[in-house]
Amino acid sequence: MSLRVIFLGTAASIPTPNRSLPSIAIRREGELILLDCGEGTQRQMIKAKVGFNRETKILITHMHGDHILGIPGLLQTMSLLGREKPLQIYGPSGIKAFLDSMIETVRFSLNFKVYVHEVHDEGTIYEGEAYRINAAWAEHTIPTLAYSLVEKPRPGRFHPERALALGIPKGSLWSKLQKGIPIQLEDGRVIMPNDVLGPPRPGRKIVYISDSRPSERLVDFARGADLLICEATFADDLAERAIEDKHSTASEAALLAKRAGARMLILTHISARYKDAGVLLKEARGIFPNVLVAEDLMSIDIPLRKD
Ligand SMILES: [Zn+2]
Ligand SMILES: [Zn+2]
Repeated sequence: MSLRVIFLGTAASIPTPNRSLPSIAIRREGELILLDCGEGTQRQMIKAKVGFNRETKILITHMHGDHILGIPGLLQTMSLLGREKPLQIYGPSGIKAFLDSMIETVRFSLNFKVYVHEVHDEGTIYEGEAYRINAAWAEHTIPTLAYSLVEKPRPGRFHPERALALGIPKGSLWSKLQKGIPIQLEDGRVIMPNDVLGPPRPGRKIVYISDSRPSERLVDFARGADLLICEATFADDLAERAIEDKHSTASEAALLAKRAGARMLILTHISARYKDAGVLLKEARGIFPNVLVAEDLMSIDIPLRKD
């Protein structure tokens, strides 16, 4: 089951020739989950070929312009391309008023429904069959949310030798059991999936923190993530500035990843002053080795956990 993360925009505050404003696409099966939607996101989506007509959720961290101003243009393009599927948007207080006023003043009509969910509390904000999305408060200059996508556990590994020992004929009965469905044999015996499966295998976890100071709460929130995506607006030389502006340095993001026991860290929300992000990578790598600095259109597959 594929789970791919595509960095659409990796700049902080203002775009540069190489970095568009913040947005990340998660492709899970046929679905698209956008994390933030900075100006220009729709053009990056075209370049990354992620599609405009998928089942889509947009998760907005906070109401700063660099994270939200891509929504109007994206909705308009989706509508012009004939989208009819509803769209779900999650974000902090103010997201609904922003969208309502934009639709009212720009006066464009959408041929699909937009459901806006204002998130007022931490916790699970969406739960489906395959995964849930959780939110936690970050620490920024205005109310800001961090998000995680957490897959539900998969059925355990199938043991053919156990199935054979129980006299279950190979074929469709095996595949039912592999999917976690009980079966009945011709002799009347009922076989439960647990009789032939190992223990359930954990799903994958992706955590997105932008923009924020590091905090204990966020360490807990990012615990055991397969991938932690964290803002790193500044390098160590501007550590004081990071405190003032309520952002993080690359070192602080790395320490957060280390303390949370994350498997991988990708730094994003890179200030325009770092034409070469090598300094951020170097500082972070000294603390947490499995780290990358995001580039626009970089994409990465998150593998299934073995056990
Ligand atoms: Zn920002
Ligand atoms: Zn901000």
